Amino acid sequence: MKIILLGPPGAGKGTIAEKLKQEYNIPQISTGDLFRAAIANQTELGKKVKSILDAGELVPDELTIALVQERLSAPDTSNGYILDGFPRTIPQAEALERFDTLDMVIDFRVRDGIIIERLAGRRVCSSCGKVYHIKNMPPQKDGVCDTCGGALYTRTDDNPDSIQQRLKTYREKTEPLIAFYSERKLLKALDGEGSVEVVWERFKKLLGN
Ligand SMILES: [Zn+2]
Repeated sequence: MKIILLGPPGAGKGTIAEKLKQEYNIPQISTGDLFRAAIANQTELGKKVKSILDAGELVPDELTIALVQERLSAPDTSNGYILDGFPRTIPQAEALERFDTLDMVIDFRVRDGIIIERLAGRRVCSSCGKVYHIKNMPPQKDGVCDTCGGALYTRTDDNPDSIQQRLKTYREKTEPLIAFYSERKLLKALDGEGSVEVVWERFKKLLGN
């Protein structure tokens, strides 16, 4: 299954991706992880990415596309993959279309008020990156990661004003992609409100259709 998860921060993509990975034995591929891995492995592409990010610039489409294409040819994608955070632009979507055929694009729909509540309560492990929520998914011990014992922190952009701004930017940027995949009859809307279990059931129904 080759699938793209589209949705604003806080829409629950990460949680659903986690379940998908386990159930279907497919990797989740995010550009952030690819950048980090390429830099750590000091590949040619990684060196380029590092100098761009060090200069505080955005990684250009062709470089991002090259990294994704390379990653999608790895053996662990034989059952498919979940793309998260890619494509972000129409040129990226067009490039992806040239080297692979998707099964489905899921558009997570969640109202702004609910996203703000989710993000404002989010805590992230400073050491392994695991994500918690003070109400919905609290760690066993306050402020400490269950998995690695690292300290949990609140991302500086997880405050209501920044969240509103991020949502606005997200919607402006993503609208063209929604139209792109809708034209290709690949887009499916997922109601992302409610508990993880409820959303997961809805999600599985979409996959079955
Ligand atoms: Zn941790």
